Amino acid sequence: AHTSGKTLRVAVIPGDGIGQEVMPEGIACLKAAAKRYDIDIQLDEKFQDWATCDRYVKEGSMLPENWKETLQQYDSIYFGAVGDPARVPDHISLWGSLIQFRREFDQYISLRPCRLMPGIKCPLADKKVGDIDFWVVRENTEGEYSSIGGKMFPGTDREFVVQDTIMTRHGVDRVLKYAFDLAQKRPRKKLTSATKSNGISISMPYWDERVKEMHQQYPDVEVDKYHIDILTAFFVLRPEAFDVVVGSNLFGDILSDLGPACTGSIGVAPSGNINPEGRFPSLFEPVHGSAPDIAGKGIANPIGAIWAGQMMLMHYGYKEAADKMMEAIEVALEKGGPNVITPDLGGKGDCAGLGGHIAKLIETL
Ligand code: ATP
Ligand code: MG
Repeated sequence: AHTSGKTLRVAVIPGDGIGQEVMPEGIACLKAAAKRYDIDIQLDEKFQDWATCDRYVKEGSMLPENWKETLQQYDSIYFGAVGDPARVPDHISLWGSLIQFRREFDQYISLRPCRLMPGIKCPLADKKVGDIDFWVVRENTEGEYSSIGGKMFPGTDREFVVQDTIMTRHGVDRVLKYAFDLAQKRPRKKLTSATKSNGISISMPYWDERVKEMHQQYPDVEVDKYHIDILTAFFVLRPEAFDVVVGSNLFGDILSDLGPACTGSIGVAPSGNINPEGRFPSLFEPVHGSAPDIAGKGIANPIGAIWAGQMMLMHYGYKEAADKMMEAIEVALEKGGPNVITPDLGGKGDCAGLGGHIAKLIETL
């Protein structure tokens, strides 16, 4: 947690497309919360062209050369979106920005809430608010996404490829520790581990073994494990069963897209890329991307960005302010009405209108 009494220093990087539209709303909401709860927060907005495809087209890189030293001076990065596939291929824009941050700042936790919100039509049948409320914790640095391997005998009939999975004790234990800590803080104290030790016969049994070992330090947390195939089915069939779900890089990737998808709108969900020890800045962003199809129209839903700001305050220990932001989001969704709610949720409101409405609720609720 953040040392209180210290300024919370945040680098704001809105990026591409609707990132530029939703982030001002997120900032307005953070400022409203900071004012009401007297939080000493500095939102530095001088990074307007960082991580933009405009910059890439002009300068040949997504970020300036000294990006690491510069961002290193902040506690946190508040990020919008990146990508403009019509001009710059996604692998260039993404690898030149977010992936760099993740790697260089050792953001080894990817954290996503999966929570059914009021006023949103759930794609799963018969689910009510309260039925879906869990977190997905994904290992973000190793596992299946290693670049170790290669192709042999290319072009011949003996051709084959190999790609290794890396699981270090350090890497597995630190993500499990984060997930156990999170589960322990929640009322249900339940942790579900994603595995596939019946098919992947070396790395996944190792993962299971580390879960078992770590569990000894958290005797009050209830642990279960599911193979990834049935686990994805249960996300859809019985999401009530979950509280905190932890997975390797690949399984966590799948679950952290599926989880929010089970709760409705892509415009609403947030995400954190976290370096829990605070040795490097953590990053908070909406789950959605730059959405070129609606960029510039002013109709993007700003809630993903606002909720990401809420997650950031929670992460640094400003619970009261974070709870108020959450309440404001819920009230806006439930009672805002069709003139306030954005078109992705069936309303005819716009980005600035919904953002302003939520900022006002944070001040007054
Ligand atoms: P990425 O490449 O990062 O996945 P993308 O821009 O291709 O990004 P997303 O932004 O994830 O795709 O979203 C897909 C579609 O969902 C968008 O094209 C848009 O129509 C819709 N969408 C996404 N975010 C929002 C939002 N905040 N408000 C309204 N609609 C959204
Ligand atoms: Mg895309």
